[in-house]
Amino acid sequence: MHICLRKIAFLAWTIFAAAIPGATHGQTAKAIVLAWDGTVSTFVDELTRQGKLPNLAKLIAGGAFADDVRPGFPSKTAPGFASLMTGAPPRVTGISGNRVPREPRADYTILDSMAGFSGAPLLAEPIWAAAQRAGKKVVISHIPAFAAESSENTVRFHGYSMIAGRDGIVTPRLSKPQPAALWNKLPASNAPALEISFAVAASKFFGLLVDDPGDEQIGYDTLLLTRSRNAEDIEVKLKSIPAGATGELFWSGPVEVKTTGERSASVYFRLFELRGDGSDFFLYFTRPARAMVIPEDALEGAGDTVRSFIGNGASILYQQGSFGRTIPSGGSGGAEARYLETVRFAQHQLMETNRWALAHLPWDLFFAYTPFPDESEHLWRGYLDPGLSTYRKEVADRLRPFLEQVYKTSDDHLGLLLADRPANTIIAVISDHGMQGANKRFAINRLLQQKGLLVIDAQGRIDLSKTKVLYPSINNGYLLINSMDRKNGIVAAEERKELARQVGELLSEVRDGDQPVVKNVYDAEIHGAEMGIGGPSGGDVYIDLVPGYDFDPRTTPEPVITQVEPYGSHGASPEQSSMRTLMLFQGPGIAAARRLQNVRIIDFAPTLSGLLGFPAPKNSSGRVLHDVSAALH
Ligand SMILES: [Zn+2]
Repeated sequence: MHICLRKIAFLAWTIFAAAIPGATHGQTAKAIVLAWDGTVSTFVDELTRQGKLPNLAKLIAGGAFADDVRPGFPSKTAPGFASLMTGAPPRVTGISGNRVPREPRADYTILDSMAGFSGAPLLAEPIWAAAQRAGKKVVISHIPAFAAESSENTVRFHGYSMIAGRDGIVTPRLSKPQPAALWNKLPASNAPALEISFAVAASKFFGLLVDDPGDEQIGYDTLLLTRSRNAEDIEVKLKSIPAGATGELFWSGPVEVKTTGERSASVYFRLFELRGDGSDFFLYFTRPARAMVIPEDALEGAGDTVRSFIGNGASILYQQGSFGRTIPSGGSGGAEARYLETVRFAQHQLMETNRWALAHLPWDLFFAYTPFPDESEHLWRGYLDPGLSTYRKEVADRLRPFLEQVYKTSDDHLGLLLADRPANTIIAVISDHGMQGANKRFAINRLLQQKGLLVIDAQGRIDLSKTKVLYPSINNGYLLINSMDRKNGIVAAEERKELARQVGELLSEVRDGDQPVVKNVYDAEIHGAEMGIGGPSGGDVYIDLVPGYDFDPRTTPEPVITQVEPYGSHGASPEQSSMRTLMLFQGPGIAAARRLQNVRIIDFAPTLSGLLGFPAPKNSSGRVLHDVSAALH
């Protein structure tokens, strides 16, 4: 057989080129990472099969995908991102919750805590620091940040630290429309203009309800906002359009408001309803957020949308019933439609930021974040979970399309990043944890009180001089032992092990009817190193509850087990399959249609750094996922 050497050389080159990310066009590989907070991989599986997440489905087909990814313990957002970005478990990162026990132990009691996000020092190196050492440029778009985190020379959008208030609604209950008197110049209106007034943070607004002559709608159809009773100073013009797929077009631009200390922030307005006779209206405004400073010169040429921030949808107002009666309470779906529009709008603001940043900022590694589906999973997973005793199929069937739409917004976000992805760029989709339905709460402190391990004084305060064990209000799935190495501690080192064993036994005996409530208990001193739990700012005894149960950290007298309205919860042990989530890589050099097994969130950082050809973050103990790319072998 005649063999052409040149052909072999060519083939060898193409195989080599395909195997090494970044070699394709002789450029260094880049990566875009999109984090979907709180993604339930079983739900993603159903939606992708039904063609409802086309961008994700395309990447799964053409990439390496895991849908049974183990989060850390507790499976919460701050520890999840700390572990994703460092490749290290909470024991090493120091981020053991969204709030963590305060250190040093000698100076703080078991009641003291600090914020896990931005407050608690991240003790492990994040991937962006490792990338910088390798000369890579990084953009971080709204990914949770931690204190003492090294990220010089990265451009970081940090919207979550700029939130300066709550979102809200204005309805006739707050401001009943009145004839507009005392105005300097009134705008043209086919009906007498009506006045409302309200405040957002420290800024007072006047509103005029008018029947716009240029608008075909019969009756009042427009709300004009000013800061004085002068129609020449109108800042915002809002049309009354019901919530829906095109509703996004009817939001205001960012409007400046003053918060405490005369600091500037911006909000967006949306008029969801205005009755033709002017008797009723429904105005929503987003959370005031201060303008981004990241540094300022990096934002040159960026529009208002990029500088401002919304972050989340109106889940709190929705849940309170402020958006109207919810489907589980017998509503028609109107409240869900309004809420969904706030989700879309928040998602689109993040997308606009990323669209601009991808095009205008220098980057080799681009990290983007979206709080969806997590926020909506919290609202609805409890109703969608057929495993709960409170399950009602008709409610689940009506809520499900709304949750699907929320996932769709995250898929659209992914689609935008794909469309704007330069050649030679790996894309990764990650998530921090899953979600489970819960409708029972276990007031563990109540049990500890009954057994004399926790003592509450006459004023209802925890008496540390008599308390041996506490489930702290930071609610991280672990107990703290009031050991003598802590301020005001009473448990001697030699007592600790026996006490932990005793508590474990006590917990395993808890029953709800005949049903056990606790599946497993882990002493961090015994299992800590292997499970990545414990450590100076972690817990002492970690608890794995039976699915459907959540922790109730309160100390108030009440039954140990209570039934509550179903909701979505996470934080549970990574052993629970509902806490598992997804991870995906696709792009140059990445295996196609590859299923990854036994993946943990700590495997992400070492795998991504391997793909981009720089050393894993210093404290990483995750595994390089060799199946992702031949280049990683
Ligand atoms: Zn969450």
